Amino acid sequence: MKSIEVLASVTDFLSRPARLFIGGAWQEAASGRSFAVENPATENPLAEVAQGAAADVDAAVAAARAAFEGPWRQVSPARRGQLLLALADLLEQHVEELAQLITLENGKPIANARGEAASAVNILRYFAGWPTKIEGSTLPVSPASGVPMLNYTLREPVGVCALIVPWNFPLTMCVWKLGPVLATGCTAVLKPAEQTPLVAVRLVQLIEAAGFPPGVVNLITGLGAETGAPLAQHADVDKIAFTGSTQVGRLIAQAATGNMKKVSLELGGKSPNIILPDADIVRAAKGAADGIFYNQGQVCTAGSRLYVHASVLDQVLEELQRHAAAHVLGPGLDPSSSMGPLVSARQLETVSGYLQRGLEQGAELICGGARPEHLQRGHFIEPSVFYDRAERACVAREEIFGPVLTVMSWSDIDELVLRANDSPYGLAAGLWTRDLRSAHRVAAQLKAGSVWINCWNVVDPASPFGGYKQSGWGREMGKNVIDAYTETKSVFVDLG
Ligand code: ADP
Repeated sequence: MKSIEVLASVTDFLSRPARLFIGGAWQEAASGRSFAVENPATENPLAEVAQGAAADVDAAVAAARAAFEGPWRQVSPARRGQLLLALADLLEQHVEELAQLITLENGKPIANARGEAASAVNILRYFAGWPTKIEGSTLPVSPASGVPMLNYTLREPVGVCALIVPWNFPLTMCVWKLGPVLATGCTAVLKPAEQTPLVAVRLVQLIEAAGFPPGVVNLITGLGAETGAPLAQHADVDKIAFTGSTQVGRLIAQAATGNMKKVSLELGGKSPNIILPDADIVRAAKGAADGIFYNQGQVCTAGSRLYVHASVLDQVLEELQRHAAAHVLGPGLDPSSSMGPLVSARQLETVSGYLQRGLEQGAELICGGARPEHLQRGHFIEPSVFYDRAERACVAREEIFGPVLTVMSWSDIDELVLRANDSPYGLAAGLWTRDLRSAHRVAAQLKAGSVWINCWNVVDPASPFGGYKQSGWGREMGKNVIDAYTETKSVFVDLG
């Protein structure tokens, strides 16, 4: 099949240098510098983007502060909800354009990019319902003095939020964080990943068009160390919300201590997926393949460790090979491609390094493991499956962030749970079974923020998402995220 036609609006957007958005104005970086964004399927440059630095971060934080203390505070909860709905409508009208931008800069198949854009619309609609429902409580206090007291709590926006997001879901990662920012009445400085800033620029154009007051959302594009680090350190930022690697998350948590910012972190994972002997094996193997190969494996919740009961191991390995072989690798704009390139040359190098070390460390390669011969350009890698009897190779223990599955077998359920939990991460886990009792018993024992039973990667704006252990701090989505973007004030009134 042939690639879809790129919309004229996308071509036009790409032809203009993308700028920073500070206090309601689009502007060059103070340094005048810019950087090129690459199409990972062709390795050709796509567009030029302003390269922010500390001076731009200062200006963006000042604009966010002014909006927070000024006009945004006067906007009623109902109006905030309307603005969020207006933004959702605008995104819905531009789903195809946003999807094409996602595919062009990230590489993922266009159908997946359309799914991502559609999910951003849903998330915004979910958060549009919140502003009018953020409430405190009245509490039955018992003062020692015997003087009657009224005590109530208020939930107030935490303030200026720095949002640092990664490249794997370049639109939804922005919206996951902007949704609660806008619902609670906070303001934001958004810092997209340097690999995928374009869809964020387009999103912020739509935020401007939706009618949010200037300074409520500011955008700084640039490199991690030059823009992310000064944001994380900034003394006038009240909260930082980060999604990315555990390594950078650690730096951000340290930088945040300067002014004791509130911090929420969504970090890495090495999520265990468990197949019990009574599972529907065909469905479980398909779920396991999708759980690792979706988005080229570049998902923090990728089901990268698969524990298969010994009695069904051969059958599962066969099914996995079949699913891997069925993938069509190619540019994301070609609708017949079911797997696109990795996001960058660096990511390809990381994944290739793991494939090589996995073999050196004794893991058995079941399929994949190489770059596809028919694709001369682009950061493509085959979907790959290892079997690691000893469970000691790096591919069984470390986050790869690529389409690489490592299979282990098990026979004792109690020992299996210990093995599944034997990881510094605790983002997600899954199990496949028809037995209700095993399902709930094992789900209760897994140390993970999300547990999927007979499914994988189900995420919903109403349901909390986040990690145990080194997979993060706090939860996004649902009521939990509203708490994370608000402070609680306790007010006492002497009624004596
Ligand atoms: P990856 O290694 O997959 O690129 P990162 O965790 O490095 O993922 O990147 C996620 C986000 O964090 C990006 O927006 C990136 O620019 C930003 N970032 C990288 N380094 C830093 C840093 N030292 N401080 C703050 N942000 C950073």
